[in-house]
Amino acid sequence: MQSMQPPELQAPLQTQESRCPQPPFEHLFLSGAEAGTAAYRQAVSTATDILVRFALQPQPYRGASPQELAAVLAGDPCPEAGLPTREVLERVEELVVQHSVKVTHPDCIAHLHCPPLIPALAAEMVVSATNQSLDSWDQSPAATIVEQQIVQWLCRLYFAQAGDGTFTSGGTQSNFMGLLLARDHYALTHLDWNCEERGLPPGAERLRILCSQAAHFTVQKSAGLLGLGRASVVPVGPDSDYRLRGVAVERAIADLRRDGLSPIALVATAGTTDLGSIDAMAELAIVARTHGLWLHADAAVGGALALSEHHRGLLAGIEAADSITVDFHKLFYQPISCGAFLVRNRRAFEVLRLHADCLNPEGTEEAGIPDLVIKSVLTTRRFDALKLYICLQALGRREFARLVESTMELARATATIIEHDPELELACYPAINAVVFRYAPEGLSAFELDSINKTVQATLLRRGRAVVARTRLKDRVQLKFTLLNPLTTVDHIRGLLQEIKAIGRAEAARGVAADPASTVSCLAPNSPMLNL
Ligand SMILES: *Cc1c(COP(=O)(O)O)cnc(C)c1O
Repeated sequence: MQSMQPPELQAPLQTQESRCPQPPFEHLFLSGAEAGTAAYRQAVSTATDILVRFALQPQPYRGASPQELAAVLAGDPCPEAGLPTREVLERVEELVVQHSVKVTHPDCIAHLHCPPLIPALAAEMVVSATNQSLDSWDQSPAATIVEQQIVQWLCRLYFAQAGDGTFTSGGTQSNFMGLLLARDHYALTHLDWNCEERGLPPGAERLRILCSQAAHFTVQKSAGLLGLGRASVVPVGPDSDYRLRGVAVERAIADLRRDGLSPIALVATAGTTDLGSIDAMAELAIVARTHGLWLHADAAVGGALALSEHHRGLLAGIEAADSITVDFHKLFYQPISCGAFLVRNRRAFEVLRLHADCLNPEGTEEAGIPDLVIKSVLTTRRFDALKLYICLQALGRREFARLVESTMELARATATIIEHDPELELACYPAINAVVFRYAPEGLSAFELDSINKTVQATLLRRGRAVVARTRLKDRVQLKFTLLNPLTTVDHIRGLLQEIKAIGRAEAARGVAADPASTVSCLAPNSPMLNL
């Protein structure tokens, strides 16, 4: 639009320099410019103060409901103009950090959700600030070497030989990769069919994957994503210790073959999510070899036992696996996310090889340049290996082992206390560090006990007293402590069990509705069903 102002009031013609001013962005990046350095120091020191204050929070959770938090956090996430970082961080402290679960709290023991080690927290700063990406050498020179070193160390730890692998976002991605390679390997060697090129092979609907009934649900999920269908997964019943045994798998294979189906892979779980039980790895290795199945070991939980000379024997047989899942954001105490996928035979990754001219043109490796992107289902990838690297160096193997061992001792002590308490019922003896039990005094019906135990779990969370899990085992609602936190002591457990019993007793005294229908809130107040 033409200016209506007289010429002398118009802005003078811009000079070349003022039209292209240095953009004032230095304070936004840690580039070495003074403004950036000062802003970084201030932001990090504010964040540090917030985290130290959060660490002093007495409860594991403040107890807010989803609705309460949604109301607190309502508002426009993207204002037109920004605010000072410190102000934003302090708002986040109030609205987000204070309503987080405190994973370092001794009573935060629901899931495989660990308190992260301090050296790893510092490592995260280095990982994010250097922002290396493991998909190509020129985006991650030293990082590439460190990741490969850690992968080789892991291969020696589990396979007792060289192998290959990649860091992943965790067990889900690692299990997916295990079954992906299993499918591709089967099609290539038995049907001369390259699934990556051509899609599913003819007869794919007859392929089957065997695993324990207690295996992680990502086995089914992966089978679905891989086009084999969730129904291709055949869950096999474990023994009375919840371990999958060779004979049971043999029987299942015979049944499948008789029905004209083709078992291609066997998943052995070293540490199930619920109970920590470890399948009979050595037996399963023999079955897999006998029947030409790809053996994938899901050691997301149990992988850390390899660090302990007392407990590594529990993993015996894992060295025969074709591929292994291990999670570091569980019993290796790393911040989320951090996991690895390992293969015994490095050629197993060949099926995934695909070249992008801009990233890893043909001949990259021949030129002596490492090419990690061909081993991953991801492209851009975090340098999570650095966290583990720094922690391994800072703690040493023995201290890591002590962490894991202490949680196993606590689980055993907890199980003993529960076993000797007439109001509590232990579901099974802990294999690693998960303790499954329920409040179960004499004289209450199965339905009442289910309902009471549900209430116990919800009440503990709502009161911000403890974060414990709820699961189903032996067809009953159970409570679960996942004793990952080395800061949890027997005294904490005693106190918590007292509280669980107190809530249970109060709930039992209040009287539990005897019929699930009566809890349906949409019934009219005078509905006869309410009196059932
Ligand atoms: C946690 C877990 C997984 C999934 O791992 P994520 O890191 O959550 O993706 C897979 N298998 C087992 C046995 C697990 O416990």
